[in-house]
Amino acid sequence: MTEDSQPTGGCACGALRYRLTRTPLVVHACHCRDCQRITGSAFVINVWIERECVECTAGQPRAFLLAGGSGKPHEVFFCGACGTTVWSRYHSVPGHSLFVRAGTLDDPCAAEPDVHIFTATKLSWVKLPDGVPAFEKMYVVRDVWPPERYARLRANIARHATPAGA
Ligand SMILES: [Zn+2]
Ligand SMILES: [Zn+2]
Repeated sequence: MTEDSQPTGGCACGALRYRLTRTPLVVHACHCRDCQRITGSAFVINVWIERECVECTAGQPRAFLLAGGSGKPHEVFFCGACGTTVWSRYHSVPGHSLFVRAGTLDDPCAAEPDVHIFTATKLSWVKLPDGVPAFEKMYVVRDVWPPERYARLRANIARHATPAGA
């Protein structure tokens, strides 16, 4: 994805359409069991991006809650008409960002995984590409992301911080 492209995507039936207004913070391929179950597939490709950079241009998703691996809720958003899951919010992640399913992009190739995570439960026949960081579970963001992306995350966290005394 280039800086000025605004990728579009949507659910399988077309009732829900969205646009991403900024490049991703990072693109994850997640091989955890939850992602395998939710997608019915080998892994999910998640575009991690600030909430305000995901614009619905048609419809609004519905959501259900799962218990995340962290113990905090994992909120899964889906099209109420066709059930396609379009993004997740992990309440364990500080700030307010979303994990958009790259398979719902009109051009899924626009989001190539920067990092593979939870490879401990990767399906044995999936071969990871050379030169792409891979972690058995999660990783420490500031150790892996380019500094400007980490700064964007910090800014998002600061914007969504609860004011003292609130
Ligand atoms: Zn739909
Ligand atoms: Zn996962």
